[in-house]
Amino acid sequence: MGNIYNFSSLNSFNSFSTIELFLYSLFLLSLGSFISVVIFRTSSNLQNNTKELNILFPRSFCPECNHQIKILHLLPLIGFFLQLGKCKICKNKIPFFYPITEISFLLIGLLLAFVYGLGIFCFFLLFLFSIFYILFYLDLKYYYLPFSINILLIPSGLLGNTFFNIFVDTNSLIFNLYPLQFSLYGLLAGYISLWSVNFIFKLISKKDGIGGGDFILFGGIGSLLGPFSLGVILFMASLFGCLMFLISRKKHTKQVPLGTCLILGSICYFLIKNFELLDSFLVI
Ligand SMILES: [Zn+2]
Repeated sequence: MGNIYNFSSLNSFNSFSTIELFLYSLFLLSLGSFISVVIFRTSSNLQNNTKELNILFPRSFCPECNHQIKILHLLPLIGFFLQLGKCKICKNKIPFFYPITEISFLLIGLLLAFVYGLGIFCFFLLFLFSIFYILFYLDLKYYYLPFSINILLIPSGLLGNTFFNIFVDTNSLIFNLYPLQFSLYGLLAGYISLWSVNFIFKLISKKDGIGGGDFILFGGIGSLLGPFSLGVILFMASLFGCLMFLISRKKHTKQVPLGTCLILGSICYFLIKNFELLDSFLVI
């Protein structure tokens, strides 16, 4: 069974009917809207607001004046433009984060459909993109990787690779690994490597150097992309970390969001491998 790296099907606009494209775009905008609600509510709970918010309740409201938002104004993108980017009651600006998230999901989702078609690879990558988007933003802004979302990567890797071979690459053939072993060894190697670094750091400095969320995240990435990816990803994550430190020295003097850097490293690894950028570099 083919995996995502040797799957080559570039579609065109003609590959989809107008109704398919329309419904899929609506789905993507709603997904983007849902993800921004998840991010807003998780970060709002973090900031010790009096109201404890879960994903479904209470209904969406303006965080400034607590006014409940009309159904029409909740529509992705349309709601933002109907209100001209401001709350109708208190006139406070609605953060650009909402339309930007919705547009990002629309564009990434369409790109995935054109590259992979509307099948298992497309929806699996869309699901992973949603998880990574939430973790990326919350870690960058609050140094926080919520356990309930972070942990989803592990079963995704184990199931996706075991049943659909999604990221199982040629390295696993060389080492005679079954897809489940590929995923399981990745999970263990990812988790244990960062845990050990932190363990040694703690012995020396008597405090944690890496958060527990980062072990789980790296374990999850390992279960998805396999044990052979981890060295490259960690190397690229350190480069991103250094870059972040240099660019915003004031904000990141004490701490660099490792989770955000690991996600950037994973995306680069995936792109390089998927589009064989390395091969073309080597040819040049
Ligand atoms: Zn308001």
